[in-house]
Amino acid sequence: MNKAMIFNIQKFSLHDGPGIRTTVFFKGCPLTCLWCHNPESQNIRQEMLYDREKCVMCGMCAKVCPHTAIINVDNSMVTELEKCNFCGACVIYCIPGARETAGAEYTVQEVVGEVLKDRVFYEESDGGVTLSGGEPLVQIDFAEELLQSLKEEGIHTAVDTCGAVPFEDLERAATYTDLFLYDLKLTDDAIHKEFTGASNQDIIENLKKLTQIHDNIHLRMPIIEGVNAESSHIERTIELIEGLNIKQVDLLPYHAIARHKYNKLGREYAESRMQVPSQEAMRQFRDMLAKKGYRQGGRNS
Ligand code: SF4
Ligand code: SF4
Repeated sequence: MNKAMIFNIQKFSLHDGPGIRTTVFFKGCPLTCLWCHNPESQNIRQEMLYDREKCVMCGMCAKVCPHTAIINVDNSMVTELEKCNFCGACVIYCIPGARETAGAEYTVQEVVGEVLKDRVFYEESDGGVTLSGGEPLVQIDFAEELLQSLKEEGIHTAVDTCGAVPFEDLERAATYTDLFLYDLKLTDDAIHKEFTGASNQDIIENLKKLTQIHDNIHLRMPIIEGVNAESSHIERTIELIEGLNIKQVDLLPYHAIARHKYNKLGREYAESRMQVPSQEAMRQFRDMLAKKGYRQGGRNS
């Protein structure tokens, strides 16, 4: 039986494809984008989030932990992950809500059962289910079985992918996927490596190959001042995708909403390197794409 590590099943999503959707967020990603809105998605293993600002240092979490995994270090309740089995007792007993776990194992049947509860909303809004993350295709056996099960139920399916997976995995998913939301972050390979930790060569090759076997791909581009909010980036992207079977490009303006999650994971957030793009710049980029005939969706700035 296929199982996957999932960190959220978000209902009533309006930005991950058409209509009202449920988005299933997978853990595990081959990239480590500096601006990632879901840093708890990058590691495929379960993680513990701890909000020092909410913690009142009552010590209850350490008392109830059956594995003595929580210790006070410099007036902060630190979890020794090698001892923790994610039983969740500390989360339940933390009255201020300073602790939460990220990631739980699900079977395909469990996910299908959960998402089908909202079937009526999908039907009334032409919505469906989106697999996101993290990178959902890192757990391809599960993702393929889930997509197949959803298609057998007549549900519209979308896959939000970073493209940094073997092409065979995209092929396997494509059979049961109505819409791909394909992320393209940077066209320059050196800068892509600097900001995401990996080359973009396979991502670009995979995109080209995917357009040959699938006819409903929306390109998604995060726009970040300090990283790629330049008209030359839009020009190079248009050059890259011209002639490919891509009709829609979604621009996603950066925001720093995930900052607190990095704190809770005990990770640094490179805020000084990234800023929100101006509305003027976003308008200019959208105009450039519109002139080339690309439809646009995505969030507005
Ligand atoms: S139970 Fe919650 S509030 Fe109390 S010490 Fe632990 S984390 Fe802090
Ligand atoms: S999840 Fe369970 S094992 Fe892990 S720190 Fe909390 S109480 Fe201890």
